[in-house]
Amino acid sequence: MFAFDILLNLIFPPSCISCDAPLDVLSRNALCGSCSEKFLNEKERKCPLCGKTHSECSCMPARLKKYCSDAMHVSEYSETDGVTRSLVLSAKDRNLKYLYDFIVNELAYLVRSRIGNAEGYIVSYVPRSKRKKAGTGVDQSALAARRLASELHLPLRKLFVHSGTAVQKKLSAEERYKNALNSYSLAKGTESIINGGNFILYDDVVTTGSTLTACASLLRRAGAGRIVILTFAKTYPGYASGQSTTPGRKRDPARLFKAKKKESYRDPRGR
Ligand SMILES: [Zn+2]
Ligand SMILES: [Zn+2]
Repeated sequence: MFAFDILLNLIFPPSCISCDAPLDVLSRNALCGSCSEKFLNEKERKCPLCGKTHSECSCMPARLKKYCSDAMHVSEYSETDGVTRSLVLSAKDRNLKYLYDFIVNELAYLVRSRIGNAEGYIVSYVPRSKRKKAGTGVDQSALAARRLASELHLPLRKLFVHSGTAVQKKLSAEERYKNALNSYSLAKGTESIINGGNFILYDDVVTTGSTLTACASLLRRAGAGRIVILTFAKTYPGYASGQSTTPGRKRDPARLFKAKKKESYRDPRGR
């Protein structure tokens, strides 16, 4: 550990990202022991659509399947609680070294376990809107994607421009999709990079898949080869708090997400 890091820890004592418990002054962790264990449990939960653990699952929103060959996610995001949620929300607001080290380590491990050294892939990401970035000064997907590319020794390209104004969170799934399609365009001069290239497309969370679909369809139209989706977390709209195996009543996630292989599909309600 560098003397500078120790000095920084002495001035700003480190605490757990999720529960705020104080950490040892020499700690380089983002989480305390108890939250690390909780996070492990969240990762190990089974996807209700395919029955695999979240890191092994390839499920993705149905509309994304038109453009992407695979989807990888580290964990599951609950709208109300959980360590995954704390990590995602903290990364939106704060560019903390240990937090991003933690997130990028998890992402790199997942990529290596699924597609090896990912040779030939270019890393890109869904950029945050200017309005959101102006609020916190952080574009969490850009930060994570940049560090991931460096960790995997892959090139990183900023391929998309966000020009939308509507707040995605307040829209219905269909409105989100239409809004996202109108909100993203390709950055100037990127067509030649995209044509024939293979991409790892990163976003922090996939919910309805609207923004990822908007970006993936732009890549596809510009002649991209393989497009693999990578997110830190996935979420199923309508799920009850922290109960990954009990779908909410409002919206059936099975209609939104589609298991990669039909035979591995398992109806979460056991019908
Ligand atoms: Zn903790
Ligand atoms: Zn799945």
